[in-house]
Order: sequence, then structure tokens, then C-alpha cells
Amino acid sequence: MGGFLEIDHLAVRYGNISAVRGISLQVEEGRIVALLGANGAGKSSTLRAISGLVAPASGKIRFNGEDITGAAAEHIVRLGISHCPEGRQIFPDLTVMENLRIGAFTQKSRKKIGEQTEFCLNLFPQLADRKAQMAGTLSGGEQQMLAIARAIMPSPRLLILDEPSLGLAPLIVRDIFRMIRKINEMGTTVLIVEQNALQTLKVADYAYVLSLGTVIMESPAKKLLENSELVNAYLGKS
Ligand code: ATP
Repeated sequence: MGGFLEIDHLAVRYGNISAVRGISLQVEEGRIVALLGANGAGKSSTLRAISGLVAPASGKIRFNGEDITGAAAEHIVRLGISHCPEGRQIFPDLTVMENLRIGAFTQKSRKKIGEQTEFCLNLFPQLADRKAQMAGTLSGGEQQMLAIARAIMPSPRLLILDEPSLGLAPLIVRDIFRMIRKINEMGTTVLIVEQNALQTLKVADYAYVLSLGTVIMESPAKKLLENSELVNAYLGKS
């Protein structure tokens, strides 16, 4: 082996509830990989285990050759994995700039933080126009942009996105997916969980379909797109 991100027979439990039941998957460097599946399939729990937000009950997670199973979340961020959580979770009473700086908590150098902030504001011009504004007063789409911008502040090698299009209007969703593609083209590997399967498959290279805590199908994204009936059958919608 020796891949970028490798998950081997991962299990996550919350008390008696088995959220993830032996999932194995790989993410190759440079790719966009999608985890699809209905609510409760175990997608978020898989992401949370990778980022160290929940301890796996069993299984192995390796990143860049290092065993990170059960490692502390902060250590995992320092290794280059950044997690943009479901529901945005920005700080509404802090400004856009302050939210971005919090994303750079692993970075000690003021100069680096300044450079990275500039980089994010260039990437998200809507945020640059509102950098002194309280994050809670931004539109839903802008808040999602801010959540993504904050997640790329540590210059991650792997960006984990949990339902970035949730609750956003179609035009905004298109912008979000365009940004995801751009971030990937600039060299960041992306692991994305989405309900919006068809849009996601259009930007993804490879996809895993989860159901009840297990992988029920995996395929190049293109192949799944050509067979949207199958996707609909598995996901119950488009
Ligand atoms: P969603 O899109 O709803 O987030 P998901 O595919 O991401 O779905 P998970 O959030 O990983 O699925 O949840 C998998 C299962 O674990 C579900 O049955 C869920 O109710 C349960 N679960 C998730 N988090 C917890 C928790 N903190 N405590 C108890 N059960 C949980």
C-alpha cells in the first residue's frame, strides 16, 4: 500500500448504535472523491473518524503512510487534513477576518497567516468585500464560502467537505461546486459528502455509495453519471 488516504474496515459506534460497519476506501492524491448515500448511511461519521472528531471502534486510517487511527484532531490538522463540517459552524459574532484567522490556528507565523488570508480573500472575492462584517449577517451561500475558506486557511493537503451545498439555492450551489473544483485544481485533494449526488458526480473522480454503514458500491464518477438511474435507485433521488 502507501496511498494518500486509506481506510481499512473502519467501524464507528455511538453507544449501541453502529454508524459505520467496516468501511474500506481509498483516496488518491489530487482527486475529488465523493461519499454518497441516504441520511444516516454513516457518511458524516466516516469523515469525523478521519479528522479525529470521533474515535473509531475498530479499523485503520492511514494518511500519507502514517497511522492516524484515533489520533488527536489537532495532530491530524497539522498533518494536513482539514474538515469543513456540516452546517457550516462559523462563528456568527466574529467578523469574516476573525473567522479566517481561527482557521489558521495551527500556524504560528503572522506572515504566513497574512499570506494565507490574502490567498483566501482572492479566491473568495465576495468575502473580501465583507471582511469586517459579522459572519452571522452573511447570506447562507456566503457563510458556506466562509466555512470553506476557513478550512483551507491551514493549507491542507486533504480538504474534507461535509454537505457543502446543504440548504443553498441552485445558483449558489453551482458556485460552491465551481470553487471546490478550483481548490482541487490548485492541488488540494478533496473528500466530499453530499446529498446532491448528480452535481457531485460531475466534479468528482471517484465515488463510494454508502448504505447503513457499509459501502454498497464504488465506481469512477463518470460511470455513475452515465447510469443515473442506478444512482437514483441507490440514493432515492437525484
Ligand atoms: P446525515 O446525512 O444525516 O448526516 P450520514 O450518512 O452522514 O447522515 P451519520 O451522521 O454518520 O450518517 O449517522 C449514522 C448513524 O449514526 C445514524 O443512525 C445516526 O443517527 C447515528 N449517529 C450519528 N451521530 C450520532 C451521535 N453523536 N450519537 C448517536 N448516534 C449518532
